[in-house]
Amino acid sequence: MAESSEVNAMFDHLEDLEKSRTDWKIKVRVTRLWPTSNAESGVVKGFNLILLDDDNYHLHAYVYPDTWKAIGKDVKEGGVYIIESFQVRDTYGRLRPVSTNVDLRFLNSTKIQPVEDDIMIPLHKFEILEVGDLIEPGGQSEVDENPEYALDVIGMIEEWEPASRVPTRYGERETLRFKLSNGRVSYGVCLWGELAVTVSKEYESEKKKPVVAIIASSKLTTFRQELQIGALPSTRIYLNLNIEAVELFRKRLEAEGYKSPVVARRATITPTPATPVLMFSLRHLTEKITSLAEKSTVMVTFKISDIEDKENWWYYACQSCHEEVEKVERKYKCTVCPRSFSYGEKRFRLLVLADDNSFASTVLLTDRVVKRLEQTTVTNLMNSSKEAPISEMPSVLKNIVGKTVTVKISLSKSNVDGDSNIYRAVDLCEGSVSGKKAAEYSPITKFPSFDQSQTDDYVVCLETPTSSDSVSKKIKMEP
Ligand SMILES: [Zn+2]
Repeated sequence: MAESSEVNAMFDHLEDLEKSRTDWKIKVRVTRLWPTSNAESGVVKGFNLILLDDDNYHLHAYVYPDTWKAIGKDVKEGGVYIIESFQVRDTYGRLRPVSTNVDLRFLNSTKIQPVEDDIMIPLHKFEILEVGDLIEPGGQSEVDENPEYALDVIGMIEEWEPASRVPTRYGERETLRFKLSNGRVSYGVCLWGELAVTVSKEYESEKKKPVVAIIASSKLTTFRQELQIGALPSTRIYLNLNIEAVELFRKRLEAEGYKSPVVARRATITPTPATPVLMFSLRHLTEKITSLAEKSTVMVTFKISDIEDKENWWYYACQSCHEEVEKVERKYKCTVCPRSFSYGEKRFRLLVLADDNSFASTVLLTDRVVKRLEQTTVTNLMNSSKEAPISEMPSVLKNIVGKTVTVKISLSKSNVDGDSNIYRAVDLCEGSVSGKKAAEYSPITKFPSFDQSQTDDYVVCLETPTSSDSVSKKIKMEP
C-alpha cells in the first residue's frame, strides 16, 4: 500500500494530527518563532513555533534547546519547511497562542527541510477578535487575566505617544503607549523593551494613517482599574497588514459606527485519526462504502463532469475550526466551537459531479482542493471580478468542468452509514490534474480489485504528463 509521504499532496494535514503516532510529515510555514526564557535569569528554556499549512490551519510547536541543537537547522520566520517525525501532545497551560487542543513537540529525530515558498500557505493566520468585542458590556469587573487562549486583537491605533525611556526595577527601559480602538471602545496598550522599539519604528514609517494594528497573542490586564491589552513573550504586532481582515475592518470603520460587543467563548477541536490511503474507483467506493470506517481516507481519480451547485461556491468559515459560521450583523458565530469572531474566513466549497467511467457520484471539493486546482483563493477571485455580485460563480471556476483529478476523500459518518453519497474531497494529488486525457482514461482496468496493492497507481498519478493548466510545477519529489 502506498504511504502518504510519496506524493506532495499527501502531506499530513495539521488538522488531522493526533497522539498515537510520531511518523508524521507536514509541509508548513513557520509564521512565528520565539524563545521561552526564564524571567529572572534570561536563560532560554525552549523555542516556540507557530506552524501554518495550506488549509489555513495552525498549530503550536515546542522545542527544547538541546533538541533544537540536535536538529541543527536554521529556521526562519516566514520560511516553508517539510517537517517529519515529531510528537503530538495534548495542549496544556494558559494563554495558548492558538486555539487547538494538540500541540507538537519536536524530537532529536525530527527532520526539518527548508523548501521553496508555497503561495498556497498564507503568510499569517489569526483568530481575530475586534477590540470592541473583548468584553461583554457591563462585564468589565471580571477580567480573566490568565485565560485559556491568548488574544489576536484588531483595532485602530489612537492616542499615539512616542516611545520614551523610563526607569524600572530592571533598569531604564524603552516604553510605548497607545490606544487600540474601534471608534467606540478603546483599550490602552503598553509595550516594553524590544517590542516597543520595533513597533515605534514601524509606526513612524507607516504612510497610511490611521494605522490598523493586529496585536497577536496578547492578553487583557487591569492596570490602575483600567483594562489594557498586554504583551506576552509570544506577542507580535502587525501594522496595516495587507490582508482582507484589515481591509474590511478599515472599510467598516469608515462606513459605520458602533455595534454592541459580544463575548467570545472557548473553542475545542476534535482531531481526526490518520488512516492509510487506498485507491478506489467510484464504483468500488460505492459498493464497499458500508465496510469502511468513518474518517478513513481513499484516493479516487475522476473527471469533473459538472458543477452541481453554482450558487453556493463559497462560505464563511470559523477561523478556528473551519465549520460554516453564521453572520449575525458583523459577528461570525460558530456553533461548534462555540465562539464568535470578528472575521469570517471565506472558503471554497464546490459540489461537483464526478465521473470515472465506472460510476458517477457527487463530490464536495473542499477549499484546499479548489485552491490547489485553481491556484487562487475565494478572496482573490472576488477581488478580481469587481463588477459581478459575489454570489455568482466566477467563470474561471466553471473551467474546472472537464478536468480529471486524483483526490483524497475522507469518509463521513453518513457516508459509511449509507445515508449520504456525497463524498468530501480533502486533498488534491498534485500532478494528477489533466484536462485532456479524461476520455481515454479507464479506471476499471487500472483498479480491478479493491484488495490489490496500489503502489503503481501513485506512480501513474505522479508521472502523468500534465497540461498547461496543471499545478505540477509545485511537485517536490524525494530523490
Ligand atoms: Zn468554530
